[in-house]
Amino acid sequence: MANAVLTALHFHNEEAAFAHVETALWPNGPVCPKCGAADAHIGRLTGKTNRTGLRKCYACRNTFTVRVGTIFEDSHLPLHLWLQVIHLMCASKKGVSTRQVQRMLQCSMKTAWHLTQRIREAMADGALGPLGGEGMVLEADTTFVGGKEKNKHLGKRNPKNIGGAGKAIVHTLIERGGRARSHHIPNVTGATLRPILNAHASRASALMTDTHGGYHQVGQEFARHEMVDHGQDEYVRGDVYSNTVEGYFAILKRGIIGVYHHISEAHLHRYLAEFDFRYSNREACGINDLSRAGLALQGVKGKRLTSKKARSAERASAAAH
Ligand SMILES: [Zn+2]
Repeated sequence: MANAVLTALHFHNEEAAFAHVETALWPNGPVCPKCGAADAHIGRLTGKTNRTGLRKCYACRNTFTVRVGTIFEDSHLPLHLWLQVIHLMCASKKGVSTRQVQRMLQCSMKTAWHLTQRIREAMADGALGPLGGEGMVLEADTTFVGGKEKNKHLGKRNPKNIGGAGKAIVHTLIERGGRARSHHIPNVTGATLRPILNAHASRASALMTDTHGGYHQVGQEFARHEMVDHGQDEYVRGDVYSNTVEGYFAILKRGIIGVYHHISEAHLHRYLAEFDFRYSNREACGINDLSRAGLALQGVKGKRLTSKKARSAERASAAAH
């Protein structure tokens, strides 16, 4: 059972959980989120209140805990339970379902869903530089994800949706031996692919793609652009192949089918961030479950996802269908 690995004290004891998160987020001691005053001006509040981790800033008289300004703010869930869910999401290759989290925490499905969405936000690796570089190989490819038309409610079926139509298109850019970055895209045209490659792919890299027309023009800007013609039953030609990105898609699809079943298009980008995060910080890159959870913890700052924001995204998605 997965819970057996959760033996560390910070998974069970609230004081220890605060200490763990404070060490991660305040490596040089507590910082006031309101005025920025550091360690020397901050006191610990005990006695009158039982709130764990409560601090007081003597510079601006603000009281706060390490939860302020993170995905943990505005949540009534004890921090040690947050840490359990973060650990499980980081340790399981295919992800953790909302129902698993709901059972584990004995909370509502709504709470469990909101919790996992916030953790996915923490995993999203913001504006880090482009992938690849001189002497490096990037593979780019697209795949379809989403439920089959025949499994939808009768009223929601669209007879025109056959094959890939009606499913979401995912584009993934991957460094051989390195990181992955995925995007939910509306179509596979040059106009859609160019901004993604502009933002995320170093032109000094070699780019491996299929023969899709969307790559032709932008591909010429790379140090080298090679195409694998799957239509000609060609899969490997020397170092020209797309097996790495296809392996990534296999994990993504097993996860989406096996764990998440159906993902609303409005939230697909967060699931992609979760799969990218685990892939980019995988065992083969020397990162174990514990250090991966530590990295996710570094992402909790400034990533608050309010219920209101999530609901309006849901509505926008429903209106678009
Ligand atoms: Zn202050």
